[in-house]
Amino acid sequence: MQTERAYQYARCSAVLAADPDVPGREATYDQALSNGLAAIVAQQWPDEVDKSKDYVPSAAGLLKVITRQADKQPDGTHLIACTDAHGKPRGICVDTDTLRSGITATQGARHGRAKGTLERRHIDALLALDGHPALGRLSEVKSDDQWLQAELHDRHERQRAAEYLAFIGDDEAAARTERAPDLIELHHPSDPEGTELEDCGVCGYTSFKLEFPAEFPDTSIGACLVCSYTRSADVSYYLTLNADSAYTFPTD
Ligand SMILES: [Zn+2]
Repeated sequence: MQTERAYQYARCSAVLAADPDVPGREATYDQALSNGLAAIVAQQWPDEVDKSKDYVPSAAGLLKVITRQADKQPDGTHLIACTDAHGKPRGICVDTDTLRSGITATQGARHGRAKGTLERRHIDALLALDGHPALGRLSEVKSDDQWLQAELHDRHERQRAAEYLAFIGDDEAAARTERAPDLIELHHPSDPEGTELEDCGVCGYTSFKLEFPAEFPDTSIGACLVCSYTRSADVSYYLTLNADSAYTFPTD
């Protein structure tokens, strides 16, 4: 579980570092922070994580553990004493106040309340957690530029399609869904494999025309006949790798 937490932290943090305004950034920030803090607390104070029945305890709860257990510094941060891979003592300062403010900002945005905006300082405080030996995989994940570009492209493509869906309205979307099976039969009469429709990850209708099926949901190559969301071969490949990793991490 520690390996997966570290990977999820690095993956989400790399996306925010590359594009602080990426669509869905609030949820990505929460996912990065809760996984990163859970990995740190599980290594430093294992009993504290065992108390929680959740797979990933809440970020706010984990910050409370760090505030209680680590030494407060004159600048308000909390110093966690740890050792590096060679057994040498080291310490990292966790900016608990800024991270708590980041949680408030994401919750406000996600629930439609004007509680604040996710700022660069919130992301910087998140990235600083990578200095803890329980994490430390951020540079490795960031170095895979093709993965990062595919991930960012898909996030923006989903947002574009969602805006287009809102533009055409519910009635037009429902009419397009009804026409979808006829449409592909008309244009692909000699391709029975190409007439498959899948649920679309953006509009939710069974209108995603598969060019090539994939093993995991919402990762195949194709385009939606309702909202126009399109998934290229490159994006499909990297989304499949992401989905696959969730199945291959050890459940320690
Ligand atoms: Zn769609």
